[in-house]
Amino acid sequence: MFDRASVVTPGGVNSPVRAFRAVGGTPRFMVSGTGPYLTDADGREYVDLVCSWGPMILGHSHPEVIAAVQEAVSRGTSFGTPGEGEVALAEEIVARIEPVEQVRLVSSGTEATMSAIRLARGFTGRAKVVKFAGCYHGHVDALLAAAGSGVATFGLPDTPGVTGATAGDTVVLPYNDLDAVRAAFAAHPGEIACVITEASPGNMGVVPPADGFNAGLKELCAANGALYISDEVMTGFRTSKAGWYGVDGVRPDLMTFGKVMGGGFPAAAFGGRGDVMAHLAPAGPVYQAGTLSGNPVATAAGLAQLRLLDDAAYAKIDAVSAELRSLVGDALTKEGVAHTVSAASNMFSVFFTDEPVRDYDDAKKQDVFRFTAFFHAMLEQGVYLPPSAFESWFVSTAHDERAVERIAAALPAAARSAAEATA
Ligand code: PLP
Repeated sequence: MFDRASVVTPGGVNSPVRAFRAVGGTPRFMVSGTGPYLTDADGREYVDLVCSWGPMILGHSHPEVIAAVQEAVSRGTSFGTPGEGEVALAEEIVARIEPVEQVRLVSSGTEATMSAIRLARGFTGRAKVVKFAGCYHGHVDALLAAAGSGVATFGLPDTPGVTGATAGDTVVLPYNDLDAVRAAFAAHPGEIACVITEASPGNMGVVPPADGFNAGLKELCAANGALYISDEVMTGFRTSKAGWYGVDGVRPDLMTFGKVMGGGFPAAAFGGRGDVMAHLAPAGPVYQAGTLSGNPVATAAGLAQLRLLDDAAYAKIDAVSAELRSLVGDALTKEGVAHTVSAASNMFSVFFTDEPVRDYDDAKKQDVFRFTAFFHAMLEQGVYLPPSAFESWFVSTAHDERAVERIAAALPAAARSAAEATA
């Protein structure tokens, strides 16, 4: 299947990290998913710790989500008009996340961050955007700049196809460094439209914000007339009922969402302060649109999923995450493998280093070759981890005792492989 895919699709995949390039080997083609399990085209079953990179927080094929999708599909798949489902989903988001007074639905997290940045620029009349090295906000041209070192480095494009002009308005700073943000505002007075940050980063591995970092960003933005955009595409509706906002309570001007809110379908959103959102077309002058935005099937799936995510569901996910973190830590300790299990609420990842990891440079210092060995040993034993050392692991309400036991049984051999690995 991978050979077939590689003929008709660049690299054989529709999103690069799926290709296993970071760990080597052939990606598994999945044909079905039930609860915490995925089954591949060769009929092998895996305990899934990727959960579609976050969305499948109730596990695969949750009967109530599937029923909601089937009911919606039976009435048609897209109308290109307003519909009740999108209103209900927007109401659910506004009810859960207090700083969101209004929300606009889109189809991907990339669209959400791209649109939020356009809105911030339109609202402030400024051009520059501050982002942090190691934070991923989708493949928005202006945000594919993470290169450069030192304080207030101008972004250089990370990829051909992004022009210097586009990336030149992006200021890339080290994560968790408020002094760098202060210096950037001082260096570019009246020019910075917004600071965008992952609410709690999961795209350089899990690196939570230091105490006071998000609050400091909010304060610096407010003092300098810039908007504070919290990207909750990954953390939203996962790290608590109200996402990371529910954990740290720092009130963003704009927020972005995706993944969990789509229930496994393409649905995402951006929202926030009413006076800022009022600048969006057709209420205001900043243009933004989408043929499939607010799609009735996607919104039905998202709404069904969110309605099932009550306090008990989060308590369950938090407990499974804590149990797995301690099992993984114990197994690696037993084999003498240097590691740090890093968590932000129920999101976690393992860095193969015992040095503290506070930013992207720290994360890159880990022994990636040990992760590679660990990953393949887990895969061989039927546990599907993210195929990169720089990604969060995800669990769901469906990860029950049996699934955890299967992971526990695989860990000793994987820890041994990590210990024996050579660079
Ligand atoms: N923002 C964050 C924090 C993400 O983790 C991602 C995707 O992983 C995105 C934005 C982009 O979302 P999408 O892949 O739906 O375009």
